[in-house]
Amino acid sequence: MKYEHIMVRYGEITTKGKNRRWFVNCLKQNLKSVLSDYPALGYWGNRDRLYINLNGENHEEILEKLPLVFGIHSFSLVLKTKRELEEIKNGALALIEGQYKSGDSFKVSAKRADKTFPLLTNEINYEVGSHILKNTDGLTVDVHSPDIDVRVEVREEAAYLSSRDYEGVGGLPAGASGKAVLMLSGGIDSPVAGYFAMKRGIELEAVHFFSPPYTSERAKQKVIELARRLTVFGGRIRLHIVPFTEIQEAIQKQVPESYVMTSTRRMMLQIADKIREKHDALAIVTGESLGQVASQTLESMFAINDVTSTPIIRPLIASDKKDIISLAKQIGTHDTSILPYEDCCTIFTPPSPATKPKLEKAQRFESFLDFEPMILKAVERTELVELSAASEEEFDDLF
Ligand code: ATP
Ligand code: MG
Repeated sequence: MKYEHIMVRYGEITTKGKNRRWFVNCLKQNLKSVLSDYPALGYWGNRDRLYINLNGENHEEILEKLPLVFGIHSFSLVLKTKRELEEIKNGALALIEGQYKSGDSFKVSAKRADKTFPLLTNEINYEVGSHILKNTDGLTVDVHSPDIDVRVEVREEAAYLSSRDYEGVGGLPAGASGKAVLMLSGGIDSPVAGYFAMKRGIELEAVHFFSPPYTSERAKQKVIELARRLTVFGGRIRLHIVPFTEIQEAIQKQVPESYVMTSTRRMMLQIADKIREKHDALAIVTGESLGQVASQTLESMFAINDVTSTPIIRPLIASDKKDIISLAKQIGTHDTSILPYEDCCTIFTPPSPATKPKLEKAQRFESFLDFEPMILKAVERTELVELSAASEEEFDDLF
């Protein structure tokens, strides 16, 4: 059986009223980007469904990629026919012929999305079912739990026949909810946080702080790979790499040891917020999880968060580390995250950071030095790495 189309169902998008066109457009763009290795593919979407015209491309490979794309509820290989009973009957027969074995049961489930179609649902079921029975051997009808469910969807422009649904990942198409800045370290948590943000439709501008010569080129490459890895789920990511050495050295000199970590985070957040503003993003996403480390107690968050009123999204706030690790494995970032290259924070982190820092103290320690020019300089000298959608295969033998 040679399929010519894949039908994509949206799930949650369909509840979005007037915004639907925008959502569908985002999904279409993301699909094009994730499937850019298949330039022959055609895309056609309306308010209810999106169709990928295979134009001769191998459908197996495309099917493997669709479960990664946010905003897809389910999808099916479909046979498209004219809205004529004879065509539908023959199409349904061709569809089932390729897959049944003697002793299998089947049913036909028609759906008249276009109510002007002359035959009623039951009439379509009957006509198509009889045609299949007459022209096959060893098939029986079972309307309750059939082995094969031949679905006939009659729409305004055509009829679509399918027999199997594949599950999509759900969520909203990346980009459909607007833009946020992801603070991306080389650790396990922040890539997973980025994944969740993307899953709710957020387009990411990633920000990474690095401190040469304390952190190496390899550590930077690792973060670039993590960001690239995330593009698999919905298109491009811009990664801003911020030179942070000067500020870290200044903090080291100025701030008592137990507050180094708190001040470091406060500076990072201010810089991330400036980058956010520059790129018209509306929120900052971090990989923080409550109580995981000293910087992630409520007291720490209170003292750090004080530098901005921008919404901070913490998708992992209530997750346990072991669950985050298993998610990182699922989304394919784990093995890169655990590479042992130094991170700017670990290098400067004192052996015993304050777990209950006071905001007033942090402010006072920082007040003896003017950090603002250093912050502006770091923003200005930020390096931009643009990552377009990568295909999964690219990652097989990276490290
Ligand atoms: P992760 O696994 O994401 O590194 P973590 O458990 O190591 O998190 P922290 O080191 O306290 O926790 O970092 C908390 C959050 O701060 C990170 O999830 C990330 O969002 C941000 N962050 C930490 N270091 C950096 C960095 N070098 N560049 C950008 N963001 C960072
Ligand atoms: Mg970390």
